[in-house]
Amino acid sequence: GETMPTSINPATGETIEEFAAHTDADIERTLANADLAFRDWRKTSFARRAEVLMRAADQMDTRKTELARIATMEMGKRLKEAEAEVGKCANALRFYAENAEKFVADDVRDGPAGRNFVTYLPIGPVLAVMPWNFPYWQCMRFAAPAIMAGNVGILKHASNVSQCALEIERIFLDADAPQGVFQTLLISSSKVEVILKDSRVRAATLTGSEGAGSAVASTAGSEIKKTVLELGGSDPFIVMPSADIAKAVEVGVTARMQNNGQSCIAAKRFIVHEDVYEDYLGRYTEAVEAIKLGDPMADDTGMGPLAMKAGVDDLKDQIDRSVSAGAKLVTGGPAPEGPGYFFQPSILADVPESAPAYREELFGPCAIMFKVKSIDEAIDLANDSDFGLGGSAWTTEPAEQERFIRELDQGGTHINRMTASDQRLPFGGVKRSGYGRELAHEGMLEFMNVKTVTID
Ligand code: NDP
Repeated sequence: GETMPTSINPATGETIEEFAAHTDADIERTLANADLAFRDWRKTSFARRAEVLMRAADQMDTRKTELARIATMEMGKRLKEAEAEVGKCANALRFYAENAEKFVADDVRDGPAGRNFVTYLPIGPVLAVMPWNFPYWQCMRFAAPAIMAGNVGILKHASNVSQCALEIERIFLDADAPQGVFQTLLISSSKVEVILKDSRVRAATLTGSEGAGSAVASTAGSEIKKTVLELGGSDPFIVMPSADIAKAVEVGVTARMQNNGQSCIAAKRFIVHEDVYEDYLGRYTEAVEAIKLGDPMADDTGMGPLAMKAGVDDLKDQIDRSVSAGAKLVTGGPAPEGPGYFFQPSILADVPESAPAYREELFGPCAIMFKVKSIDEAIDLANDSDFGLGGSAWTTEPAEQERFIRELDQGGTHINRMTASDQRLPFGGVKRSGYGRELAHEGMLEFMNVKTVTID
């Protein structure tokens, strides 16, 4: 039998709710609804679609704390961070409500006919396979542009955040989206293949691990369906001698430890010039040791639990194997015995190339510190990774900034700032971090038919 989607409070280890998975008949009904809804939705005006998104945004603002508490209960992020996430979703919904029409306005071109133009049309139902780490944001950053484009969405969320998944469906229904425009399926990942093979589903977007991305993209490829993949990362955070060290420490700790260390675009590899390495590591260690582990609902907590027990076990294993390979655990490690999936914020230094931490993504609160002698060494080390999601470089020297912007292989380079997504700018990766872009107008165009029209 199928495993039931189950929500467990990671701060206590207690089961919150078990859900009956949707059946094959439910899946069929959902696909039929999506197909039917699309036939009407594609003909609606931008104004009508924008009304839905505006109402959805208003609800997210009005219900901010309630929605945030659900996320905190299901996956352990701090309540304040969950509230910020809900607010960010409202912003993205409004952004697309206000800008979508102009992003995809008909585009007149020179061409062979009397009149030539490009018009952008929706493609149909899109399957979204989403992760638990930003349980609202990851979904809304797909849903907002997709719905404005005239597409409809089917969400298969991670099995540990089903309450969030159902809330997202409800937000769109309460916002007066016609039934079928946005639907949630509570199903195990083993059902994704058959859904993706159904001719009514036109494309898929996935945020999650490389394994899941590769599986979904393989199926989609065999069916000639487009995918957008947002996968893992091991983003570098480079600190050069001219940097404002105090700020690079403060922002660097946030960039690694926010969301309890579980973010694809977290700063994971700190690459620090030898002139400032000891100073940086000393201050960074002090800041990390000051983080207070505890109840994610409490205001004074600096870090909550990891979302799942497997996350604790995996991170402990990666750190243990790295230490065996010669790395030094500067501070941290698993939290002392007790309920909940807590992990002390940690730092690894002197990590040799043979250590797992050198190559693998650490999806939890552990910073990796490297010392380099030059900008060339910093760029080579940063690029010596299978991943290429984002990255941050700290320097006030214009020539160095230019080199980082041109030479780092990543989907986003941020100078004297941490990596963060913003609805006004495209977001995505290169190499094994995935392909395609979300957000801004680039994200909207991914799932549209760029139609050429010529008229004599
Ligand atoms: P998973 O990839 O296991 O889960 C993400 C989603 O994919 C879930 O909905 C999951 O469903 C589904 N899924 C898993 N395997 C398959 C499959 N074979 N076919 C179809 N769907 C599948 O991620 P984790 O929970 O392991 O999360 C951690 C990893 O995800 C990290 O490596 C991290 O880097 C990456 N990640 C990347 C993000 C990004 O924005 N780039 C954001 C968040 C995470 P189910 O829960 O039912 O298994």
